[in-house]
Formats: sequence, C-alpha cells, structure tokens
Amino acid sequence: MDLGFIHCSVILEQEILRDGAILVQNGVISWVGPTSELPIQPKKTKDLGGFFISPGYIDLHVHGGGGVDSTIAEPEQIKVICRTHESFGTTSLCLALVSSPVEVTTKALAAISHLATIGTGGARLIGAYLEGPFINPARCGAHSTKNILEPDLELMSRFTHAAGGWLRIVSLAPELPGSDNLIDWLVKSGFVVAIGHTSATCEQTLGAIKRGCKLATHLFNGMKPFHHRDPNAAGAVLASGEITAELILDETHLHPIAARLAFNALGNDRVVLVTDATSVVGSPDGRGSLGQKSIVFDKGAAYLENGVLAGSALTMADAVKNAIDLCKLDIPTAVRCASLNPASVLSLDDRLGSISAGKYADLLVLDPSDLRVLESYVNGERVFRSPY
Ligand SMILES: [Zn+2]
Repeated sequence: MDLGFIHCSVILEQEILRDGAILVQNGVISWVGPTSELPIQPKKTKDLGGFFISPGYIDLHVHGGGGVDSTIAEPEQIKVICRTHESFGTTSLCLALVSSPVEVTTKALAAISHLATIGTGGARLIGAYLEGPFINPARCGAHSTKNILEPDLELMSRFTHAAGGWLRIVSLAPELPGSDNLIDWLVKSGFVVAIGHTSATCEQTLGAIKRGCKLATHLFNGMKPFHHRDPNAAGAVLASGEITAELILDETHLHPIAARLAFNALGNDRVVLVTDATSVVGSPDGRGSLGQKSIVFDKGAAYLENGVLAGSALTMADAVKNAIDLCKLDIPTAVRCASLNPASVLSLDDRLGSISAGKYADLLVLDPSDLRVLESYVNGERVFRSPY
C-alpha cells in the first residue's frame, strides 16, 4: 500500500465523510471509508487533522496560465500552463484554442497531442478544445474575425488528424451554412460538439441539440441573450433538458442569479464550472495574450486592449468557492460541477472525477475555512504544495 490519508473530511459525490480515510495504491484509490475502519496500515500515512480532501478539479476550457497562451505550440511552455493551474486545484485540463490561422491551430493541436501522450509531469492534459474557427463573427467576443471560417469538413479532418486522437471538444455556431453536416460528422466520429459564439435562434439551437450537440460553451456569454418572446440559444439550452452547460462563474461574466437560473433549469448534474482562463492567471506581470492578441488583467478579469472581455482570470478554486458563496450550492455539489460533471462530458467518469475505489488518485487537500488549495495530487503523487 503506497499512501493513506487519514482523519480527513472526504468530499464524496453527494456528501462529506467526516473522519474519513483514503488508501492509494499504484496511483489509484483502493479504499475509502471511516478512519476507524481502515483495513490495513499503509506504509506512508498523512494525518490531515480534519482538513478537506476533494477530487481534483477538471477544467474543460483553459486558454492559458503563467503568462503562456495555449496556441504557443511549445510543449515546455504548455507545461507552464499546467503548473499554474495545478496550484489552483486543476488536476486535468483541456486546452482550448481560439480561432487562429489554420497553421497555428494545426501546430498547436500537434503540440497538445504530443504532450498529452507523454504526460506533463503533473496535471493531466486530457485533450484539445477547438473554440472556433466555425463560429459566428457577429458573436466573436475576443476571437479575430479574420480567423473565423465557414464550416469546412475537409479542414475539420485536417484538424482531427493533427490532434492525433486528442481532440475532445469542438465548439461551433449551428446557424452557419454547412453546420448540420459538420455536426453530424463530428458526432458520428465521437467528438463532443458544443454550441458557442452563436446567434442561433431557439429553434436552430434545439435542432443542433437533436443532432447530438451535448455542451453549451460558456452559457449566456457569446450568444444572444434570453428573451421571453425570443428565447434564443440561451433559452433553448436552459429548456432542452438534454445538454450540459459551461458556466464561467466569476463576477464579471455572469450575475449569480443567471448562474442560479442555470442550476435550477439544468439540474446540478448538467452544469460544468470552467475557467476559460487566459495567460494572465498566474502571470508575473498581469499581462498576457489570447491567440495573437495582447490582453491585460484588470479588477479580476482579462480584457483586450480595447476593453472587450477576453476569456477570464478565473481559477477553478475560485469558481468552486463562488458556486458555494454566490449560488448557495453545498460543497459536494459545487465540487461535483468541477470534477464529476466535466469527467462525464468526456466519458472519463469511470476513471476521473470523484473519490471512489478504482479511480485515479487525483486529489486535493483543501483548507476547511476557505477551500484554499493546500496540496494537489495527480496519480497519488503530490504536484503542488502551498505552505500551511
Ligand atoms: Zn474560451
């Protein structure tokens, strides 16, 4: 037996196990239960003295961190993004790519594929998330309109080839000509298709969900807003009952009441907390880039130089805390939206996303007073420790 955590408050899927214990063997959780019922004495034991232990967070939507943007295509630099987010509790992440010149995207996909295959030495790189280029220029947000393209199956297959099996999510605007064919092809090929950066009507969105789209990219942001006579994409997502929505739960992208509406409409199992974090998170000077544009950090958010919101400066640790403080979720539910729910979107919930026997020992030690991340473990190996 490699490692045991004892006397901890274990955040399970539905409840908190007080004075619990976890045994880890070969990087995998082998047993969870009350400390008093520990079946064997592990070689190495950590007494957590009542601190929380949580499943590692899974962030499906990360553009950067530590001053590095995901389109950089340099494996050593991409590791900086992983090191940055490990310290905020992310133990698995998908790197999202904004609409970029085709050669930039293909190179970045190849770099992600390479690093995902060999491992980052810490947080798991679980794949790539193509956010564009098949999006609506009218809802481009921080994407360069010159890099936005009409749906193109041939180009899409070039991207999937470059990603070598590591492309997980493709976000597109379903109202564009050719989107239906592209959605059908992506769904048939096993990719998660997300609806995002879109001016789609309610009917167009419901049609895309029927075709198999199963994720909404940062619900409410980058789409026409809900109106009671014209519900648009946001209304269709909220009403469909069949789709999972990402929320960027900082106080800039979303009013807490809008987030609460999403939890109420979709149910707690169909919301995933994402950061949409850009390189300004953990950047030494608060400056960074998103794709080929410069961005700056200001009052907790990331902006292009013209003042347009550009991704976020959010961390998963803060997203979880905001879900509890602003949306009044209980701790297991907030954590589930940051762990099991995203694992389920990618069908990785048999290995990742909660603390149960047989899953990878991707774990966090959290301060019970403020849920600050004190230690992060991937495969039972500690990859981050804050002084405490
Ligand atoms: Zn994004």
